[in-house]
Amino acid sequence: MTAARSAKPDAVAAAAVDAARDALLELVPAADVGEVLGHRAEEDRVVTHYFACTRTGYRGWRWAVTVARAPRQRAVTVDEIVLLPGEDAITAPAWLPYRERIKPGDLSPGDLLPTEEDDPRLVPGYLSGDPADDFPDVSDGDLVRSVVDELGLRRERVLSLEGRDEAAERWYDGEAGPDAPIAQSAPAPCVTCGFLVRLSGPLSRVFGVCANAQANDDGRVVSLDHGCGAHSQAQLARRSQPQPLPEPVLDTLSWDELETF
Ligand code: SF4
Repeated sequence: MTAARSAKPDAVAAAAVDAARDALLELVPAADVGEVLGHRAEEDRVVTHYFACTRTGYRGWRWAVTVARAPRQRAVTVDEIVLLPGEDAITAPAWLPYRERIKPGDLSPGDLLPTEEDDPRLVPGYLSGDPADDFPDVSDGDLVRSVVDELGLRRERVLSLEGRDEAAERWYDGEAGPDAPIAQSAPAPCVTCGFLVRLSGPLSRVFGVCANAQANDDGRVVSLDHGCGAHSQAQLARRSQPQPLPEPVLDTLSWDELETF
């Protein structure tokens, strides 16, 4: 590699390959230093020389020795020596925050995944517009709202509108929505199924919970226009129903009537 980044390399600094190698060999064993790979100009009178790294496990890495020459000087001084990854070097993947590494289903018993203080999916409990979120048995929410607020009985944080919309979209577009293959061939939608348990609150207009032990979605939220073959009103087609058997030629099931004396 001999391409300069911007400025023309200083002739003295560019020629100081031996000085750069000598400085490098003061820090690392000679067996770890390979061929000269080139140089590049960093600034005026500042040049970096590259040497292959032959250390085991560092394929594609290279030593970078930066030298500089002061104005009106004929000798260079060594600025910096570092080991840098080349294009085909094996390097660690880009660092990802712990939170972004966790995928749904990754949590094991005992794992913690705290939510951010400013998580947009949550708002303080006192901002919840519906007391029924926390007190589903209360029929007249307005009567108890002020008492509940005064005593601070709500949950500290509840779903925000954004959090609710996100969940609704995720559920509706997923395997429990109307576009799932199992719903496409269902005899009827969940909204007419006897196994559907109704929810309360705004999400109840679109979703319910399936309570059919034989269904794939048992215990899961399903959209009202989802469906499956375990629908409570599902009937086998006439041709699939058991056919009546003809009279047996030799009856081995019933008693023979014998004449008695
Ligand atoms: S059994 Fe099937 S149709 Fe009935 S609620 Fe569950 S998923 Fe919906």
